[in-house]
Amino acid sequence: MTKLSGKTALVTGASRGIGAAIAKRLAADGATVAITYTKGADAAAQVVKEIETAGGKAIAIQADAADAKAVSAAVEQTVSTFGNLDILVNNAGTAIPKPFEEATLEEMDRVIDINLRGVFIATQAALKHLRDGGRIISIGSCVGERMGTPGLVAYAATKGAVKMFTQGLAREVGTRGITVNNIQPGPIDTDLNPAAGDWAEPQLANTALKRYGHVDDIAAMVAFVAGPEASYITGTSLTVDGGTNA
Ligand code: NDP
Repeated sequence: MTKLSGKTALVTGASRGIGAAIAKRLAADGATVAITYTKGADAAAQVVKEIETAGGKAIAIQADAADAKAVSAAVEQTVSTFGNLDILVNNAGTAIPKPFEEATLEEMDRVIDINLRGVFIATQAALKHLRDGGRIISIGSCVGERMGTPGLVAYAATKGAVKMFTQGLAREVGTRGITVNNIQPGPIDTDLNPAAGDWAEPQLANTALKRYGHVDDIAAMVAFVAGPEASYITGTSLTVDGGTNA
């Protein structure tokens, strides 16, 4: 018996990066896991295969976080496949780094649609099924609270909104024992934010630890918040940023 056995989790945007690490960690802790992706069918299938090889159960569903119908269908498929839903991890997100004055309306819309509207959509769909004691965990960002580098204006605004979404929703679902929390990563080495990328240097300089984090650093915090020991933590933002915001 592991701490998440009998639980079902849905992790959005989990074919790569932080989401894939979260899916694998929740499965290792005993949860059955559904993941969504957009283009990375092969990568998503590989995540499922790794979970199954380790003795877990998982499915991958193509669903763009900005597409309300596809996300609702993904939630329904998760429940019809595994019978219930206990944990939603709103991980899908994107950034289009550039000076704000150069950002196009299309780029700003895309960032809002995935990072904020996508969180609203997935959470509403999940709440229809989430059992008492469930968990809603969003992956915000340390820049949703403090800003140390240029180029991420719209992105930071969406992540700040995710922080307040978390606080607001915690007040509405607490009587069902459902907790709502926001994990705020700092620089984590992924395709979105490579430790060797053009935007890495100032981010690295801003950390107290003088290094990028690993996807497993975030997965560990998500696993803790998803678990039974975190049942009194709600409406809060937990920052895992190597001291960036210190
Ligand atoms: P990556 O770009 O490395 O991976 C993104 C994942 O999300 C992929 O599996 C991708 O699948 C999927 N995805 C992308 N767009 C969508 C979409 N519209 N709908 C559904 N799935 C989608 O990102 P990270 O792992 O770095 O980031 C994950 C989360 O963590 C994001 O919310 C990000 O903002 C946040 N974060 C990341 C930090 C970092 O330093 N890396 C720092 C702070 C926060 P596919 O390949 O199929 O498109």
